[in-house]
Amino acid sequence: MDTKTLLEWSAKYHTPNYGSRAPIVLVRGDGVRVWDSDGREYLDFGAGIAVTSLGHCHPRVTGAIQEAAATLLHVSNLYHSAPQIHLAKLLIEHSFAERVFFSNSGAEANEAALKLARKYARERIASDRVEFVATRNSFHGRTFATVAATGQEKYHHGFEPLVPGFKHVPYNDLRAMERAIDNRTAGVIIECIQGEGGVNVADEDYLRGLRKLCDQSGALLIVDEIQTGVARTGKLWSYEHYGIEPDIMTLAKALANGVPIGAMLTRDEIASVLVAGTHGSTFGGTPFVTSVALATLTTIIDGKIWERAARTGQYLMDGLRKIQAANGVIRAVRGKGLLIGAELSGLVGPVVDACREAGLLVLSAGERVLRLTPPLIVEERECDRALAIIQTALGRVG
Ligand SMILES: *Cc1c(COP(=O)(O)O)cnc(C)c1O
Repeated sequence: MDTKTLLEWSAKYHTPNYGSRAPIVLVRGDGVRVWDSDGREYLDFGAGIAVTSLGHCHPRVTGAIQEAAATLLHVSNLYHSAPQIHLAKLLIEHSFAERVFFSNSGAEANEAALKLARKYARERIASDRVEFVATRNSFHGRTFATVAATGQEKYHHGFEPLVPGFKHVPYNDLRAMERAIDNRTAGVIIECIQGEGGVNVADEDYLRGLRKLCDQSGALLIVDEIQTGVARTGKLWSYEHYGIEPDIMTLAKALANGVPIGAMLTRDEIASVLVAGTHGSTFGGTPFVTSVALATLTTIIDGKIWERAARTGQYLMDGLRKIQAANGVIRAVRGKGLLIGAELSGLVGPVVDACREAGLLVLSAGERVLRLTPPLIVEERECDRALAIIQTALGRVG
């Protein structure tokens, strides 16, 4: 099938919500590279959207997929399965948490977190303790509850009335949090780095202060690590940068290197309200996805891949800062590890297009931020190539 026909059929048969898709059809990937249906090669500095952290078709991931496919793809959660148990144990041995619930996506992991926090607060603290505080420019998903948690109006338009019970306060503003948290607050949901919202990094004092506010009021601190987790920011979990621990953490994107999975992690005491029958999922944590996640997470932990992400991330940020010094188009460079944003003086869309035309896939975060989330295995010479392409593409800023 030729590319032109595929693109015509795509326009004809899909719902139009991905209307701004790039006009290429990707057919194959290997490490940091992908190829389109016309045989053109690209450096993939998006890794999906911070998903394929070990690169495309990593041999251990591919091996796990092949083995699971030939052994046992699916059983329901009416039964136990070994990969699910091993994955839960590995997550718990390497995090603050004591209990795990598996879902299929980030939004579902956040749904589970919000449902758990509300049930815990209502049953263990007070029956009217049902509300949530979230931050402006946050992103927590597209389901009714998680879109209400999301602090960006563009995701709300047309879907009102929103699920009630969510307040939004400015990010990195501890006083605003202090005013918003009260004796009706069940939980606060926050990203240590706002990914979709512009690669905004939380200040150290902010998250520490927020942890204290939650401790004082009894509100649960839900840290959304869906984008920041699994070594992306130079630590296995981004909360480690801040010397705090959440009460609930959610994961998804990179956890199975591209196979859909989500997870909600918490402590024993909080998990205990989720008694038999109160929550569940048909597909959540099947032997297939959990064995792929197990291969991914084992590879990341055994290789201490976060150290590599920290090092290469520094290299890439230094490179962007050099471009910034030589070229007024970049206003600020921010991020941690390999979750990096460059705020531009104008619209980022044309820069993303120019990069792609020159063989580099990059992401945006909002209208003015160029976002880089390459696979964590990316090498310096690939960063050099990407930086050269970006420098040229910045000439096209909107
Ligand atoms: C991507 C993302 C989500 C939503 O995950 P889905 O798998 O698309 O539902 C939620 N929170 C954050 C921080 C994300 O980056």
